[in-house]
Amino acid sequence: MKSWPELACAGALAAVIGLAVAIQPTAQSATSAPTDGRAGNSFVVQGARVFDGERDLGVATVVVRDGMVEAVVADAAVPEGLTVVDGSGKTLLPGLIDAHVHAWGDAQRDMARFGVTSALDMHGDAARLPGLRAQRDAATHGDRADLWAAGFAITAPGGHGTQYGFPVPTVDADTDIDAFIGERVDEGADFIKLIVEDLSAYGLPQRLPTLSPAQVAQVVAAAHARDRRAVAHVAKLEDARMAIEAGADGLVHVFTDAVADEAFVAAMRERGAFVVPTLSVVASMAGSGEGKALAEDVRLRTLLGAQQTGTLAADFGPPNPQRLQRALDSVRLLHAAGVDILTGSDAPNPGTAHGASLHHELSLLVRAGLTPAQALAAATSLPAKRFGLAQRGRIAQGMRADLVLVDGDPLDDITATRAIDAVWKNGHRVARELDTVAAPAATAPPDDTLVSDFDGDAIEAAFGSWMPTTDQMAGGASQVGHALVEGGAEGSRGALRIGGEIRPGFAYPWAGVMYFPAAQPMQPVDLSARKELVFQVRGDERTYSAMLFSGASMQGMPAVQTFTAGPEWREIRLPLSAFAGGDLSQVRGIAFTAGQPQGAFEFRIDRVELR
Ligand SMILES: [Zn+2]
Repeated sequence: MKSWPELACAGALAAVIGLAVAIQPTAQSATSAPTDGRAGNSFVVQGARVFDGERDLGVATVVVRDGMVEAVVADAAVPEGLTVVDGSGKTLLPGLIDAHVHAWGDAQRDMARFGVTSALDMHGDAARLPGLRAQRDAATHGDRADLWAAGFAITAPGGHGTQYGFPVPTVDADTDIDAFIGERVDEGADFIKLIVEDLSAYGLPQRLPTLSPAQVAQVVAAAHARDRRAVAHVAKLEDARMAIEAGADGLVHVFTDAVADEAFVAAMRERGAFVVPTLSVVASMAGSGEGKALAEDVRLRTLLGAQQTGTLAADFGPPNPQRLQRALDSVRLLHAAGVDILTGSDAPNPGTAHGASLHHELSLLVRAGLTPAQALAAATSLPAKRFGLAQRGRIAQGMRADLVLVDGDPLDDITATRAIDAVWKNGHRVARELDTVAAPAATAPPDDTLVSDFDGDAIEAAFGSWMPTTDQMAGGASQVGHALVEGGAEGSRGALRIGGEIRPGFAYPWAGVMYFPAAQPMQPVDLSARKELVFQVRGDERTYSAMLFSGASMQGMPAVQTFTAGPEWREIRLPLSAFAGGDLSQVRGIAFTAGQPQGAFEFRIDRVELR
């Protein structure tokens, strides 16, 4: 569930999020111990109520030595030389586990600041898998969540998961599935995530290719043959039924088209399958506005980075409360039948944010009928058990000292998990102050006003770069090609031709080119001293859009101005101040795109300037 075709402007969002996935460096930076003077990973927490991941132990003493839990005892003399943390009036929890994320950039640090010390990444580039494994095995860092990851999700050619701007190997009718899964495991996949999604759950005419039931069964068998769990993305009850009958270990979303029926609940129970319902993203998709409300919670607000606030505020609308209610009802029925429910946020999808949304998910599980203790188990011991995360999810001797100390009693009021007093990762206290999260500074552009005259032998810019962009990132089918052509404006040597076809498939289709002003795509450049976007255009008499992507959040909505491309070269001058809501101090990209109506389009641009 990473694109929501029913939503206004989701296209632009998906484009940006997809791009962010594609451009972030995949290598993890070296692990490091905190350098804030709170270094050291041996201490004692005394006087706190302890929920050990499974049970409420009442007030107990927890001894941590060298980053590991050494003892949990009702009352103990504090070992000599260890720092004592006073837990009076507080509750100590195991580090929280988010069982459905897509992590890049600052995600692992954002999670840790909100008490999420382990997470399961459900789809992303496989190149980073060995690095993630090394990082979590090292147990030396004290500043970020550990990740277990699927690497590439298993999907059909052109299916869901292929639209995010990074190449994904796919399964077609001729694929040797056993060998294909073997390659994923060799890449380092910790588990196998498969996608059953044709978009038919969303009331749109568009369909995506997806895995057949026979292929799903082969994927599951191949994963199990290699001692890997197989989990499924589904959006519909019938697809969930099929995946579970095929032997999938769990579902990583709850379906929203129907409430679980008795036969399905029985099948889940009998097969011992689990569900990560991702109610946070379902609530967002239902237009609930709960993400935005979460961002206003005083216990979280001041700790949210700009990117987190941005994704939480991204609204899904139109409201569809039945979608959320069906999901809550299914969770209630499955939980009542004894099916394991695990917390997962699907961050950073619109309406969610890494770390913070896990606290929303806990509240939603309580709304679905879990007790606070059961919800806390869903965020700690259960995901550790169901995904085989060693030394995580419990406060017990021999476990990693991944701990969260909160004010008050979340066993009574689940929202008390938001009142975080301290987080430890591998026994190191996590620095939670926002200023420890470096925001990329906007760079100044060179003095040139000319961006590109397209008179050279390559598509170049005096500063920045050009890339094609289409709604394929959001599951659409529009196409674009861009190339240098001879004969530019005012008799110049060349111009940039942009041509393609707007095709059905996405509610808000687009295709065109994106200009990135910084050395790295989507990094901000300060253009506040510039007044106008000026360029020459000619084309097929369509109306086109210039879209400005700007602001602190990479997921911000673009500001749009339109222009028409006539048969003769013409100069277009767009005042930058007329990009309503744009933040010129942080310009990340400017797109030149065709949209509705469907059909072929062609236009040329030349002599692009930022004056
Ligand atoms: Zn997801």
